[in-house]
Amino acid sequence: MQGTLKIHSENILPIIKKWLYSEKDIFLRELVSNACDALQKLSILHDNKQVEKIPSLRVDVTIDKEKRTLTFSDNGIGMDQEEVEKYICQLAFSGAEEFVSKYQLQKEGEAIIGHFGLGFYSAYMVAENVEIETLSHKKESVAVHWVCDGSSSYSIEQGTRGEPGTDVILHISKGEEELLEPAKIRKLLTHYCSFLPYPIYLNGSVINEQAPLWMKPAAECTDKEYLDFYRFLFPTEQDPLFWVHLNVDFPFHLKGILYFPRITQERDFQKESIKLYCNRVFVSNNCNDILPNFLTILRGAIDSPDIPLNVSRSHLQMDATVKQLGSHISKKIADRLSALYRSEKEKFYDCWEDIELIIKYGALQDEKFYERVKEFLIWKNDRGEWTTVEEYLERNTERKVFYAPEDLASPHYLDLYKSKGIELLIVASSMIQQATFQMLESKLDVTFQRIDGALHDTLLDLSKEMSLLDAEGKTEGGRIAEFFRKKIDSEGLNVEAKSLASRSLPGFLLIKEEERRLRESLAFYGKEKGSFNVVKPTFVVNTNSPLVKAIYSVESKDPSLAKEMAIALYDHARISQKEMEPEALSIFLERNLQIWEKLAGKLV
Ligand code: ADP
Repeated sequence: MQGTLKIHSENILPIIKKWLYSEKDIFLRELVSNACDALQKLSILHDNKQVEKIPSLRVDVTIDKEKRTLTFSDNGIGMDQEEVEKYICQLAFSGAEEFVSKYQLQKEGEAIIGHFGLGFYSAYMVAENVEIETLSHKKESVAVHWVCDGSSSYSIEQGTRGEPGTDVILHISKGEEELLEPAKIRKLLTHYCSFLPYPIYLNGSVINEQAPLWMKPAAECTDKEYLDFYRFLFPTEQDPLFWVHLNVDFPFHLKGILYFPRITQERDFQKESIKLYCNRVFVSNNCNDILPNFLTILRGAIDSPDIPLNVSRSHLQMDATVKQLGSHISKKIADRLSALYRSEKEKFYDCWEDIELIIKYGALQDEKFYERVKEFLIWKNDRGEWTTVEEYLERNTERKVFYAPEDLASPHYLDLYKSKGIELLIVASSMIQQATFQMLESKLDVTFQRIDGALHDTLLDLSKEMSLLDAEGKTEGGRIAEFFRKKIDSEGLNVEAKSLASRSLPGFLLIKEEERRLRESLAFYGKEKGSFNVVKPTFVVNTNSPLVKAIYSVESKDPSLAKEMAIALYDHARISQKEMEPEALSIFLERNLQIWEKLAGKLV
């Protein structure tokens, strides 16, 4: 018998081919899912005693290179002629029609996630002709053979299948020969079908041996199982730190396991590492539109039938279910971190380097997450203790937090603060730290001050201040400052002489907090070139330093040596605060040699 497909658009194939070209591999996911559905339906009938005996249910994918066919066979429910006409010839195309109308609505180039209910019809992305051989499980059914070359006419006649079930036979199009390679099909099956509930065989060997651990109740999963599952999903990655098992039934369905990976680099956020499944069928490696940004650094698998797959990305982000899902997961993650912090503090601190970014990014991006994690939004202080900013403020009288970069090369400066008993947070230089400080400044009425960002009163030894005026109305401090300014002779450099409460620190660069932050932002956005010039530091020389005094007095005996030494002192400060442009280092080294040569020459 000949028939005409119930479809308005005469020529749907070119559209499908064009549109789905980049994702044409999904045909395999669609056909294997259909086969599994057919198995499941039969199994349900069996459970309800409507079918007496069922075989051991399986899907077989076979390749016949000579005939250029790829066949998907299942021993499931099967179809009779009426069903083929109804489900394949009408329903399948109604999905396709919907697709066409969508296609016309969507702007060219707008990305679409997942499938469109095209299901069976996606076979035509890679096949020039498709046959179905099927026999319904119903008693006394007649086998059906359906053939369609993708035009709107098909033929249907009596088939040859002897056992209930369905074979979908794809006659692979020219140019798609890759799909006749077992290695390629194996890869695709492993990718899309690893967690399907029935065994799937390729040319006789099983593909999906690993069960999806997210389906198992958390209480029954062992640590080893969680780790093994992670290794299965991410075979090349280091073992994770810990994990969260998700299981939600209301107001949406979601199961999954999210692992906290070992991570320290901000750029790891770019990786795609959470696999999205819909009823155990792999859908996407990209959950970026579903999860809050800061959680995309986690790894694992999420399975939810409620994530709409047939809408564009921009719609997805607006979707209420997707929003709820994101906030649910973010709550679960915060709860897990909180439990770890409360019950396994040592482990929490051990993992800190890897989880810090998630916690701090999360706190920045999500107010609720901040409220949940603020108790353990921590830094290490100069005494090696962990503290939150609120705890720091409780111990200190001012609403000011002093911090030092962890990579400060010279210890003298830290010592100055230590000797005054001022607590310092030790902080890695990164945008995230700066952004977190800014957020806390607005929330907690506090200011953050890097130790070289201002001269705190308590760091000065006012008793030794050289403020007496001489005959010309200048102070000695003023003269020392002027001496260094002239000798260093760097454009725009401001020099101040201060009596610091330390003899060992000869001088340092004072860089205003706002200017430093501005510069860090510029550097982060890739404008680091020339960023050394964004700030105009002040070089503070310590009039209590014997070295400073000595250099000052060399002037009367050897002005050129005094100049070299003044510059070397300035460069020394620049190096220890990581403020020297790399090109200047060789000049610094050369100058040091010359100074030693001169000094040694004077001594022998
Ligand atoms: P969907 O799977 O989304 O319903 P499809 O176009 O993939 O859409 O399939 C249409 C219908 O055809 C299915 O709902 C099912 O009833 C029937 N069908 C497809 N493949 C099989 C199969 N292997 N065995 C039995 N029925 C099938």
